[in-house]
Amino acid sequence: MIPVTKPFLPKEEEFQEYVDSIWERQWLTNNGPLLNDFELKLKKYLDIKHLLFVNNGTFALQLAIKALALSGEIITTPFSYVATTSSIVWEGCKPVYVDIDPETFNIDPEKIEAAITPQTSAILATHVYGNPCDIDTIQEIADHYGLKVIYDAAHCFGTRYKDKSVFEYGDISTTSFHATKLFHTIEGGAVFTRDPELLKKMMYIRNFGHNGPDSFEGLGVNGKNCEFHAAMGLCNLKYVDEILEKRKLLSLHYFEKLSAIKASFPKINDDKDYNYAYFPVLFESEELRERCLEKLEQSNVFCRRYFSPALSTLPYVDQVKMPVCDDVVKRIACLPLYHSLSFSDLDMICRIIVRTQNYDESVPCPAQDFGILVADKIETEINNLNE
Ligand SMILES: *Cc1c(COP(=O)(O)O)cnc(C)c1O
Repeated sequence: MIPVTKPFLPKEEEFQEYVDSIWERQWLTNNGPLLNDFELKLKKYLDIKHLLFVNNGTFALQLAIKALALSGEIITTPFSYVATTSSIVWEGCKPVYVDIDPETFNIDPEKIEAAITPQTSAILATHVYGNPCDIDTIQEIADHYGLKVIYDAAHCFGTRYKDKSVFEYGDISTTSFHATKLFHTIEGGAVFTRDPELLKKMMYIRNFGHNGPDSFEGLGVNGKNCEFHAAMGLCNLKYVDEILEKRKLLSLHYFEKLSAIKASFPKINDDKDYNYAYFPVLFESEELRERCLEKLEQSNVFCRRYFSPALSTLPYVDQVKMPVCDDVVKRIACLPLYHSLSFSDLDMICRIIVRTQNYDESVPCPAQDFGILVADKIETEINNLNE
């Protein structure tokens, strides 16, 4: 079975070594030595000053909204994972959708101004598939109208923008270290800010508001993470360059093999080092996407319609039409992409897609010897044409 993603796992002995040390210390959570070490190494790796490791990427978003004391309306994208919208609603704010750019699938900055009202407090945008938004334009608009900016950078581990980690942008950036992400701690996430005051505020909120064993700075919740998740992070951090490199090679291979299909790929922002977090394909039509996904499933290859549905159609928001997003949602799919994906499996996936768009439905084509069958079929067809 080839799923859309598989979690990366370090060598078991490496994780075991950390687990043994946890047993020795009997310190499981509450700002333990592994957590501290992980935060330090993460800062060093990302070349970033301030971050907090939290329990997941959804809480990171809620924490960002809470720490900035946002209220009223938050301008956001309809094309993201549900957590981008649900965290806004959960924090008692109203998501106001702005349609996406047809080439990058990120929020379209040209359309933001028209959505600003006296109630607008912030812009919450996602760097979709790890491809940075038009950060400069968004910041200009935010500065002009006095709005805060939060980036949901859940897909962005390893992405750099203008020679800095993309996590450096916005008032707060958040990310997820969930098992399905490029870099993970099984469950986990982080918030990033350049503002030390904001960092302090989030540090208190993450830990019940404690500023001492018996005293409290303000209202807080439990957003901490623990030694075991930090241990997985420490293990995986050693492999992350290798992971980034492999994903790039796999993606370039996909591009090459799929260059002739009736589909397009998102345009990657020029000013960045991209992390190849996903391999999205925008098919020419919904019908072609469904036909390709069906054929792939028959061969035990499972893609995902990331992201569907449009967040602007969720049952708990004021539903609005977003023409570009609504169209993309119908035609997009992410193909399998993970560290242990083999080039031969990738070739098989591409052959199925190419064949599905080019060849006759009625010709049976079992997956196991797909390559040979297609080659045979092409041969027969050429012979037929020549006769
Ligand atoms: C994965 C993801 C999240 C949620 O992160 P969790 O760690 O699973 O809570 C939020 N936003 C986006 C865009 C994501 O892909």
